[in-house]
Amino acid sequence: MSPEEKCGVLHGKYELGRLLGHGSFAKVYHAMHLQTGKSVAMKVVGKEKVIQVGMMEQIKREISIMKMVKHPNIVNLHEVMASKTKIYFAMDLIKGGELFSKVAKGRLKEDAARKYFQQLISAIDFCHSRGVYHRDLKPENVLLDEEGNLKVTDFGLSAFSDHLRQDGLLHTTCGTPAYVAPEVIGNKGYDGAKADIWSCGVILYVLLAGFLPFQDDNIMAMYNKIHRGDFKCPPWFSSETRRLITKMLDPNPNSRISISKIMESVWFKKPVSRKLNEK
Ligand code: ADP
Ligand code: MG
Repeated sequence: MSPEEKCGVLHGKYELGRLLGHGSFAKVYHAMHLQTGKSVAMKVVGKEKVIQVGMMEQIKREISIMKMVKHPNIVNLHEVMASKTKIYFAMDLIKGGELFSKVAKGRLKEDAARKYFQQLISAIDFCHSRGVYHRDLKPENVLLDEEGNLKVTDFGLSAFSDHLRQDGLLHTTCGTPAYVAPEVIGNKGYDGAKADIWSCGVILYVLLAGFLPFQDDNIMAMYNKIHRGDFKCPPWFSSETRRLITKMLDPNPNSRISISKIMESVWFKKPVSRKLNEK
């Protein structure tokens, strides 16, 4: 713990509280903005790692972009602070947990999945139009607020978290490639927009099926399935659902559907019932 964390007050501005969660390279704490009494989530990243991988300049660039990217379905980054040893990201506190805790209780009906998917695509489209790519869309990065609205977290920041994980060990423990596009696994350089669309396709599949499209106990067998785009739709998927998911999970990024075409699809455009919107 840094001295700032030990005494519980950060930069004279925030009182740090309990640990909310941690990923493979950061810890996220509850914090209170002393002047306003407002609660925030404070993500803490060790500076040493960032400097080690020579990412400081890129991080500064990404942060200035993130501060400009404001969208109702993206976790808002308020400000960034630094101490000698740490970087602190003050962001909106999202209290409804992860979207996938909903799926854990059972797969979603088409209408409910459509509401979340529309919000997810709206967030992704907004960022892509500003040249920001997520590159790490997965369950832990999709949260729900208290009104049941979807909030994507880690947007833009994932570009450098990838680098931080390049020490190999951390990379393997950071887990499942289940949401990652084949061209990303191939490590050949890729189009961030197309990679995000693939991950959204996996997320939509999971919402409607209750399980992953690409699964295997053997990691190499799973990679092979991803590379071939080898998945099956369960019988309860409608033909429109199948059509859209198949176009999103196209292993060839060049022929994979674009965001604008997703938004024009019959499945996407169906109105969501008012009851869901009021939730
Ligand atoms: P990492 O980049 O190391 O994976 P994350 O940004 O994913 O770190 O944060 C780790 C965990 O902290 C998340 O999985 C989530 O449970 C929690 N968390 C992150 N951001 C917020 C937030 N804004 N509000 C509430 N909880 C959050
Ligand atoms: Mg994470």
